Amino acid sequence: MNRARLLVMNAALGPLDYRVPEGMSVEYGSVVVAPLGPRQIMGIVWEEAKLPAHSVPDEKLRPLLGLVDVPPIRAELRRLIEWTADYYIAPMAAVARMVISSGGALRGPATMTEYRLSGGMPERMTPQREAALEALEGEQATIRELAGIAGVSEGVLRGLVNQGVLEPVEVDVDRPYPRAAPGHAVVELSEDQQAVAARLVEAVQAEEFAPFLLDGVTGSGKTETYFEAVAQALRQDRQVLVLLPEIALTEAFLSRFEDRFGTAPIVWHSSLKSTERRRAWRAIASGEAQVVVGARSALFLPYANLGLIVVDEAHEISFKQEDGVRYNARDVAVMRSHFERIPVVLASATPALESLHMADSGTYEKLVLPSRYGGATLPTIKLVNLTEEQPGRGAWIAAPLRAALEDRLEKGEQSLLFLNRRGYAPLTLCRNCGFRFQCPNCSAWLVEHRLSRRLSCHHCGHETKPPERCPECGEEECLVACGPGVERIADEVAEILPDARVALVTSDTINSPEKAAEFVAQAEAKAIDVIVGTQLVTKGFHFPELTLVGVIDADLGLEGGDLRAAERTYQQVAQVAGRAGRGSKPGEVLIQTRHPDAPVIAALEAGDRDAFYEAETESRRHAGAPPFGRWAAIIVSSEDDSEAREAANRIGTTRPFLDDVMILGPAPAPLALLRNRYRYRLLLNARRTANLQAVIRDWLRQVDHPPGVRVGVDIDPYSF
Ligand code: ADP
Ligand code: ZN
Repeated sequence: MNRARLLVMNAALGPLDYRVPEGMSVEYGSVVVAPLGPRQIMGIVWEEAKLPAHSVPDEKLRPLLGLVDVPPIRAELRRLIEWTADYYIAPMAAVARMVISSGGALRGPATMTEYRLSGGMPERMTPQREAALEALEGEQATIRELAGIAGVSEGVLRGLVNQGVLEPVEVDVDRPYPRAAPGHAVVELSEDQQAVAARLVEAVQAEEFAPFLLDGVTGSGKTETYFEAVAQALRQDRQVLVLLPEIALTEAFLSRFEDRFGTAPIVWHSSLKSTERRRAWRAIASGEAQVVVGARSALFLPYANLGLIVVDEAHEISFKQEDGVRYNARDVAVMRSHFERIPVVLASATPALESLHMADSGTYEKLVLPSRYGGATLPTIKLVNLTEEQPGRGAWIAAPLRAALEDRLEKGEQSLLFLNRRGYAPLTLCRNCGFRFQCPNCSAWLVEHRLSRRLSCHHCGHETKPPERCPECGEEECLVACGPGVERIADEVAEILPDARVALVTSDTINSPEKAAEFVAQAEAKAIDVIVGTQLVTKGFHFPELTLVGVIDADLGLEGGDLRAAERTYQQVAQVAGRAGRGSKPGEVLIQTRHPDAPVIAALEAGDRDAFYEAETESRRHAGAPPFGRWAAIIVSSEDDSEAREAANRIGTTRPFLDDVMILGPAPAPLALLRNRYRYRLLLNARRTANLQAVIRDWLRQVDHPPGVRVGVDIDPYSF
């Protein structure tokens, strides 16, 4: 190839043509460096430049500067990049960046320099240096990462390097990972598990596209079952990707994996150190990496010979990316398997209605594990009607739940209280004038966090100290907390059960794998009586002594009238209920609600999953919602409110009139102000057969906007 057309890593640019200089040899998918104006840019050789040689002579094209020493991006992944960009209406470069940039500094030698404390002391101590010395105890990372950990500037740390207080360590990013052994500790499967595992193993052997829905109640042993498929892929020297939702809490998963395969898998998530990120990326691309366990971004890595994808807890909403390229990793995983021609397993106890529909219509093969492993029974579920059983003022735990908590503590069994709200209280106001604390950047209330003594915005991260006096009326000590967050529930438990050992489990308290491991170890050692947590506690955990689950407010998710509110409530409550009674002692679940007759709550009480799905199917059919119809959202934003509104109106007035696509709006988006940008939204509801993407693309192409306006498209939105 002597002329190459590049996909360059800049979303604003289209494909660019370059000359391949003498002595350089590139192929499709080669990662190269090219000149762009006075700068350099990374690109992927996408195709041979199509222009006939006589229209632009070779000499007129600028030559490529170099070839990056990584394997070419394979055709299967290039197709996936194209498909993702096309389906989600995103620039190809933005998708390709998820492949390339995730490797960190791809270029350069196979070693990187990290720094750690040498034990020496600086010549002169300053408060910043002191803080750095304390914070960096036991840490080893690049200067930039250490600066982030210590909260000081890189300059401060470079000063410490010059004085020998921080010493360099050369890290070989190509050092090999330990090998996983498919036969390390084989588990004897139940009969149900064997049947499912055999089918999966067969599919891995066939090396063909095969999508599965692994539908099994909580604790049925889905993980052990798909581990057999993982083992088979390892035997065939194929790589495996396991996507998991909450990467912070995979400690339990990792140790189970290690028990089974003799070594931990490679973990991929957004907060990896740059040396680990580069090491993992290179091992994945070279084929040396065997099993990768990761959050959704692991889906776009350049696996050399992928043989199986598992999406565990496939119903989870964290698989949906909500900014940049708005994709759903569950759906893209199925497409990747299709292009790679390999099996994909979507595992869940509470599958998304769309996935069930695909299984029922025969597109996915359904594999079922109907009962809990080892004869453990599913917990009994009771409702606590809050309209009859009102907790006192400023309290949220009603009498029946309180009694159950006391009972478990007496018996030495564990309890879990679930409320999907971080912090102490979702709203703070002034008792004197009614002033409410709002985020300056978002249309959202500030949430009080008592542990960290902050008011914080859960949308943009804005934080402030609670003031001594009301900023509106000047009254002192007038702030009142309204409503409960988990911190407040933990306080209430401490009042009811002063002797109980209470663990608060939220992303504020469990913010690292070490903390997660510590929590799991304590719970297993029975050093915790009551766990109070957000959705972090709803999945993955297996604590045999846990026999009571209390849902503080089952109605919380039903407010807001969002498309998936009922499904999400069902999934969350069913998942958290699934933590109860996993050992030999039976479990009990108490669900506090003000709406005991709502279909989803009634189905939860009856333990009748089919009834819930049937009711939900009917309401979706009626609304033309997925899987019967399709939704998309167009989100228009600007830092200037009138600019955003005008842009949204321009789009609104050029709307196409079609039989199979209904267009609603523009209207202010549910978060009308987010991170200082005003947002307006149009909603599209289409028949399944409509070519929604083509409609949107043609439509948006006709409208121009000032540079401050951003127009984003959300295909198959999760919430609106
Ligand atoms: P799920 O993923 O369906 O919620 P898990 O795979 O976590 O279920 O299994 C629940 C519990 O049962 C785990 O502690 C697991 O180790 C145990 N278990 C499952 N299958 C087996 C088996 N065949 N032999 C021994 N223990 C098993
Ligand atoms: Zn905010």
